[in-house]
Amino acid sequence: MGLTGLEIFKHLPKTNCKECGSPTCLAFAMALASGKASLDACPYVSEEAKAALDSASAPPIKLVKVGAGDHAVELGDETELFRHDKRFFHPTSIAVLISDTEDAAASAELFDALEFDRVGLHYVTDMVAVQCASGDAAKFKAAVEAVAGKTQKAMILIAEDPAVMEAALPAVKDRNPLVYAANAGNYEKMVELAKANNCPLAVKGKDLNETAELVEKIVALGYKELVLDSGARETSKVLADLTQMRRLAVRKKYRPFGYPTIAFTSKENAQEEILQAGVYVSKYASIVVLKAREKQQLLPLLAWRQNLFTDPQKPIAVEPKLYDVGEPDENSPVYVTTNFSLTYFIVEGEVEGSRIPSRILSVDTGGVSVLTAYADNKFSAETIAAAMKKAGLDEKVKHRQIVIPGHVAVLKGALEEASGWEVLVGPREASGIPKFAKERFA
Ligand code: SF4
Repeated sequence: MGLTGLEIFKHLPKTNCKECGSPTCLAFAMALASGKASLDACPYVSEEAKAALDSASAPPIKLVKVGAGDHAVELGDETELFRHDKRFFHPTSIAVLISDTEDAAASAELFDALEFDRVGLHYVTDMVAVQCASGDAAKFKAAVEAVAGKTQKAMILIAEDPAVMEAALPAVKDRNPLVYAANAGNYEKMVELAKANNCPLAVKGKDLNETAELVEKIVALGYKELVLDSGARETSKVLADLTQMRRLAVRKKYRPFGYPTIAFTSKENAQEEILQAGVYVSKYASIVVLKAREKQQLLPLLAWRQNLFTDPQKPIAVEPKLYDVGEPDENSPVYVTTNFSLTYFIVEGEVEGSRIPSRILSVDTGGVSVLTAYADNKFSAETIAAAMKKAGLDEKVKHRQIVIPGHVAVLKGALEEASGWEVLVGPREASGIPKFAKERFA
């Protein structure tokens, strides 16, 4: 259980020097108790006080890394129960399951190609889980090595027999795989293996109580790089367990559940499996392991994950600048829009559809759409004229005509005055751009 603000306050220097960013030591203690500050922010805490405050200053959910180099994934280190309270920080890692009874190298090659681009964002499946279904240590080792040879992405090794794990783990220990899993019957040997190879360890109980007990035993053995599995596989039970673990870790600072979590899908039908995985991404799995591996199956899951893990205070935006569509020259049309990602990519798609090489000037509106930005004076004659100047349009374009969205036709006069360019009023909806472009520029 975490310390209260007053208990923490007793260990602070009480000089109210403000260097931590809080107005008083008491305010800092309160922020620390609620997980909204880090003890490192106070440079004057003694070593004795640090030791005493360890449980209060540790994040409610430990940060655990799986994988190595550019493909390492960070799990946990979450502070909120609800996204709107602040944000969620580390997106759920999506792991694709490969069995040692299939052609593991071929499957890993297909897995490695599972990458998607959508609204200017790049989506990837982050992890590959290799499962020992054969029960044969040599076969498992061969599959693990084959997968490691085909992808650099983070790995999970699934074998609950320590002898099988021991056969495969040393070969890929430099890749820092997640060792799955320590259970009530094997945990001492699994901890030994995880420690010897310096890899994170999954802990699997039969239920929440057994999981908590196992964590306490493993921590007592001196290992804390843990990922938790409550053992449930039925959707509503997994959801209840994940929610309970998150709630106890964040609200009560209950240490046995202060680690990232892993969930496995159980549905065989791909659509049902993706829905099940979507539930676990929503609340609150750090890793979801699933069998689906077709792009069209995974795309909705990755899109949902992307939306959930964005900062709710910050709209998704593209860089405000001048973009080329095709290979425009000094006679090509110029369109202007905002830097809200969805708006920009819809406009770009329609301009591309017109088949006339063009430029699109994306104005910095803080990532909000045309009408919202106009209402807030962020998409005005002045901001557009300033963006035109910054993009060097005068030097790049001969005809000195610019197309504004039909919704802000009212800006025409003021923008002509501010920029010295002729302003053409485009269609109200981006879908009208191809027809508009053919009539005006073809
Ligand atoms: S930096 Fe330390 S001593 Fe200074 S106000 Fe903050 S908690 Fe108190």
